[in-house]
Amino acid sequence: MVTIKSKREIELMREAGRVACLAQKEIEKAIKPGVSTFELDKIAETVIRACGGIPAEKNYPSGEKGVPNFPGSICASVNDEVIHGIPSKRVILKEGDIISIDLVACKNGYNGDCARTYIVGDAPEETKRLIDVTKQAFFEGIKYAKKGNRLGDISHAIGSYVESNGYSVVKEFQGHGIGSSMHEDPGIPNYGKAGRGIRLEPGMTLAIEPMVIMGNHNILQLDDGWTIITEDGSLAAHYENTILITEKEPEILTII
Ligand code: MG
Repeated sequence: MVTIKSKREIELMREAGRVACLAQKEIEKAIKPGVSTFELDKIAETVIRACGGIPAEKNYPSGEKGVPNFPGSICASVNDEVIHGIPSKRVILKEGDIISIDLVACKNGYNGDCARTYIVGDAPEETKRLIDVTKQAFFEGIKYAKKGNRLGDISHAIGSYVESNGYSVVKEFQGHGIGSSMHEDPGIPNYGKAGRGIRLEPGMTLAIEPMVIMGNHNILQLDDGWTIITEDGSLAAHYENTILITEKEPEILTII
């Protein structure tokens, strides 16, 4: 069921989104060669808790038998890792790496979810282009995030933009509704047909999140039960914001 948020709930979503964005900003400042993804995890947790929130990814259940709950406060996915990388003292960033940080702040029972891909130091132009296209795919998608449009209009805009730039979208994972739960209906694929799916209504809050691979779209899961990597070893990028459907233009809740 897709929930329509009340005015009060929208205020709480704005605050959760603000906290999630703040955590991203602090992480961005700390990213440099020699820093571990564990250190970035601690920065996020500290910022979110200092704002009165909790890092909602911590202890998130995998849903798969025998796989422990997610141990981190952030997902930290380096280079060919697409999503759900586990923060670790053993993962030390190097010059030229890229790292995708996906985090969720829960405050007063509501969630803000955002992801960014950062470059460690400098990287080749083709790497920058992957990250730029992934970010722009989000903005291409939300051009259609308007009252009366269909969900498939967003999905189609994202997928066709990515593919027209020569990259692949991940098919097995998708964006989602968000609110008092981190994952709510509807699922929001990063590909699909325009004109299909539910109609968008003011008060819907959605996490739109293109996951883009430089090579082919196939993915694999590591034995840790969480980390998703590209099958061909090529780089992957991720960009996500929580948005609110309004009477006019969408409001992005995780950019301040
Ligand atoms: Mg996320």
